[in-house]
Amino acid sequence: MIIGITGTPGTGKTSVSAIIGDVLDLNELIKGEGLYLGIDEERDSLIADMDAVYDRVCGIGETRDGNLVIEGHLSHHVSDSAIVLRLAPDELERRLMARGYSGAKIYENALSEAIDVILVEAVDWCDRVYEIDTTGRTVEDVADAILEILDAINRGIEIEGHKPGSVDWLESEASCLVNFDYGR
Ligand code: ADP
Ligand code: MN
Repeated sequence: MIIGITGTPGTGKTSVSAIIGDVLDLNELIKGEGLYLGIDEERDSLIADMDAVYDRVCGIGETRDGNLVIEGHLSHHVSDSAIVLRLAPDELERRLMARGYSGAKIYENALSEAIDVILVEAVDWCDRVYEIDTTGRTVEDVADAILEILDAINRGIEIEGHKPGSVDWLESEASCLVNFDYGR
C-alpha cells in the first residue's frame, strides 16, 4: 500500500518525514527523474507528469515488502491512504513569509489551507484519509501522531481523533486573522 503524507506547502511534511525516516520525497523524485511536463513560470514550480509519477511510485512500492510512505503536496494523488497535515492559516502565512515566498504564493497557499483544498482532494482520491492539526505542536509531536496512524494502518485497526473534517479553520479565528494583503 502507498501512504502519502500530504498538506499545503509549509505544513511541515518534509521536517516531520526526516524524523520518521524511510519516507520518499515526491518533489525530489519528480525533479530528480524529470517526471514533469514543463515549468509553471507564474508559480515558479514544475508541472508534474502525474501519470509518470504514479507509474514510478507504484514501481517503487512493488519492490517493498511493507507499505511505502511518500511525502509531498501531490502525494495524495498517487496514494491509497493519505495523512493530511493541517496548520492554522495565519501561522502558515507567517511560515511562508519566513521562507521568502512571493505575496501571490503565500495568498494562494493560505487561502487553499483555509478552505481545505488538499483535504477535499485527498478524500476524493484516497480510500482512507487521516487529518492532523499541527498548530502549536512540535515536529517530534507530529511525528509521533503519524507513527501512531502508520501503526494502526499496519495492524488494520481504527484510530480515534483523525477523521477528515475534524479540522475546520472557517469555524476558528485563525482564518479571519489571515490578512490576505501582501501588496499584490
Ligand atoms: P513542507 O515540507 O510541508 O512544505 P517543511 O517541513 O519544509 O514543510 O516546513 C516548513 C517550515 O516550517 C520550515 O521552516 C520548518 O522548520 C518549519 N516547521 C515545520 N514543522 C514545524 C513545527 N511543527 N513547528 C514549528 N515549525 C515547523
Ligand atoms: Mn516539503
